[in-house]
Amino acid sequence: METKSLPNDSTLIIGAGLAGLFTALEMAPMPVTVITAAKLGRGGSSRWAQGGLAAAVGDNDKPEYHFNDTMAAGAGLVDFHAAKVLVEEGPARVEDLIRYGVEFDRDENGKLKLGMEAAHGLHRIVHVAGDQAGAAIMEALIDAAHASSHITLLERTIADELIIDENGRIRGALLFDIEAQKRYMMSAQRTVMATGGIGGLYAVTTNPKFAQGHGIAMALRVGAEIMDPEFVQFHPTGLDLGIDPAPLATEALRGDGCHLVDNKGHRFMTDLHEDAELAPRDIVARGVAASIAAGNGAFLDARTAIGSRFKDRYPTVYKSCQLKNIDPSTDLMPVAPAVHYHMGGIRTDIEGRTTMKGLWAVGEAAATGVHGANRLASNSLLEALVFGKRVADSIRKDDPSTKQVRVGFQQDRLTLEPKPAPEEIFQHLRNTMTAFAGLLRTGDSLKQAAANLNEIQDSDVLTSGLQNAVLAASLICLGGYAREESRGGHARTDFPETSETRMHTIFKWTPETNLTHHFEKLPDISKTPSETSS
Ligand SMILES: Cc1cc2nc3c(=O)[nH]c(=O)nc-3n(C[C@H](O)[C@H](O)[C@H](O)COP(=O)(O)OP(=O)(O)OC[C@H]3O[C@@H](n4cnc5c(N)ncnc54)[C@H](O)[C@@H]3O)c2cc1C
Repeated sequence: METKSLPNDSTLIIGAGLAGLFTALEMAPMPVTVITAAKLGRGGSSRWAQGGLAAAVGDNDKPEYHFNDTMAAGAGLVDFHAAKVLVEEGPARVEDLIRYGVEFDRDENGKLKLGMEAAHGLHRIVHVAGDQAGAAIMEALIDAAHASSHITLLERTIADELIIDENGRIRGALLFDIEAQKRYMMSAQRTVMATGGIGGLYAVTTNPKFAQGHGIAMALRVGAEIMDPEFVQFHPTGLDLGIDPAPLATEALRGDGCHLVDNKGHRFMTDLHEDAELAPRDIVARGVAASIAAGNGAFLDARTAIGSRFKDRYPTVYKSCQLKNIDPSTDLMPVAPAVHYHMGGIRTDIEGRTTMKGLWAVGEAAATGVHGANRLASNSLLEALVFGKRVADSIRKDDPSTKQVRVGFQQDRLTLEPKPAPEEIFQHLRNTMTAFAGLLRTGDSLKQAAANLNEIQDSDVLTSGLQNAVLAASLICLGGYAREESRGGHARTDFPETSETRMHTIFKWTPETNLTHHFEKLPDISKTPSETSS
């Protein structure tokens, strides 16, 4: 197989969403090669982000308020240090985006307009042209990346395996060039995993279909720890229009006063939580699911709160509704929970370092600890920026030891076609995950999901892409099965209570032990961030 080597001080970044691109830009002037499975700006979730970015930039806001809301949403599993870093460095990263040319919405006095979203104590979300933050941010960063001589961009290139050296350091990846239909080994001194989320593993999701957790699977196979894969966030208001992926009705709509009603017009969330539609996402998602399961349907009502301003304020949502001849200023919007975000992922410290030397992870693929069991709305774009900069800073300090080393990878890779999952069997995987590892799970349903996944893994149409997808999906099921409690995004109907013991689920694979799993207890919750700060 052909080997291409990046220059000595160069870094390979796998994924060109917000996390991958921002990390690359912040690494200047160090050379970096960024690969993406799709065309630049396509294939990832970043471009689709609607609501915006949470940061304590308002006159009456403080990082500590943002911190408290982040901790509360995360249902006991948020890492103090990571959350502190997130909220304290957030405002500076918003300034960075402004410098890159992002034009956030402003009021008549030129101040940033701040939106409200569920489980935030005050207005704190910066946005662009109403609901187009992700597209605007990505456009600015793509322009900046094109103009940066230290960045090489390789589009339509898929990574399916990491390369490890004889000392256990990660040294690049096996890549597949889709245009040339050619596989090659890209050796690099440092590798950053920025492959995004897992929503594509589910039949009903707001994520692009290619969000299949490949990064998690690749990292696991070289020995990196994977944390809390069972925590999958369902967005309560996917638009139920029969479109795949499901278009999103952004959280900001509920922040703007829209109500959830059933087919009799009853505002069912007022029965379930004191914050009604603005309760944490997991609670609202279960409320919506229960109303649908009871045969009463679920609808978002924007008629009074927004009315005729809808088209201008929420153009993306409006466009989606128009596909099915729904006018949100006069009609109810049918909604259903859809897989939206993965809190679990490749375990990192607060510099984005994974448990393997030479490998960093950032963005949705990473588990930095800031989201715990349930992400606070609009904290994920912020996480990609804050930890993207930290990864860049960490890499700058890294000494990869350039002496000649032998590298290798798991040879079974070469027996599998380096292709994405075949359509039909992949749809079976997605249906399995939605049916058996979805919003509400039981031990039996998760066992059924794992059994189906084993069958898929043994099928004769296995490709490297399908194998990575099966592995990521299996971790979600195994983590869900092991965690015998309900917490945040993980709801077991056979274990409805939240355990008093707060713990992370950790998975690790080595050739000697195969897949192992253990729980790791969190420190005493009564300690304040300052007491635990290092
Ligand atoms: C509809 C929608 C709305 C959202 N709204 C908001 C919001 O308002 N605020 C907020 O904070 N968050 C929001 N989110 C979540 C947020 O958009 C994501 O968490 C964030 O953009 C993830 O960024 P990322 O860079 O980690 O991944 P992505 O943007 O998903 O990028 C992943 C990249 O990895 C590439 N890739 C994947 N696998 C491979 C592989 N094997 N080889 C090569 N390349 C690969 C992809 O092609 C892509 O370039 C929303 C998500 C969705 C889907």
